[in-house]
Amino acid sequence: MKILCVVRNYAPHAKEMQSAVPTEPVFFMKPDSALNQKQMPFFYPDFSQDVQHEAELVVKINRLGKCIKPEFAHKYYDSVALGIDFTARDMQKGFKERSMPWLLAKGFDGSAVMGPFVTLEELGKPINDLNFDLKINGNLVQQGNSGDMIFDVDHLIAYVSRFITLRTGDLIYTGTPAGVGSVKIGDHLDGTIEGRPMLSLDIK
Ligand code: MG
Repeated sequence: MKILCVVRNYAPHAKEMQSAVPTEPVFFMKPDSALNQKQMPFFYPDFSQDVQHEAELVVKINRLGKCIKPEFAHKYYDSVALGIDFTARDMQKGFKERSMPWLLAKGFDGSAVMGPFVTLEELGKPINDLNFDLKINGNLVQQGNSGDMIFDVDHLIAYVSRFITLRTGDLIYTGTPAGVGSVKIGDHLDGTIEGRPMLSLDIK
């Protein structure tokens, strides 16, 4: 199983990061050891002073595919989850400044949080019109709609599968909307998709 993640897939987030809006999808990966899918507490790591949340819709690939055409991409998933792409922003900044890969800033243990999956059928909504949000201690910090993605899910699958074979169980973190920010020990994070509670996490 691999965890593919998309960078800057919502224009307002690219702006808040003072980054250009990409003209092609940009991917990175997290190792499978980064995954926290049981919503165990997130233990604040000692190597960062600035861990930030990025709330993202996560798509699970449900069949083997390579060079998938965009018009067939919808056959490769049927459910979504709410995830958090935790990022050690201070480390990432340092790596970026030195033009070095940011793997360790985004791939550390526990950095890929993910709630349970819900089918699109159950939600009664298409993949490109899903509202989701994240609250910290009850305060809304991030709110997005998948219709605002720069590259929609089918485009992401078509694009990445030209280079990397997708296998059953692979995960795609589809990018974060604006509102990323720091978490601190003692925080409680809650998230929803279409108003359904989909994530609940303590920072310890
Ligand atoms: Mg992200």
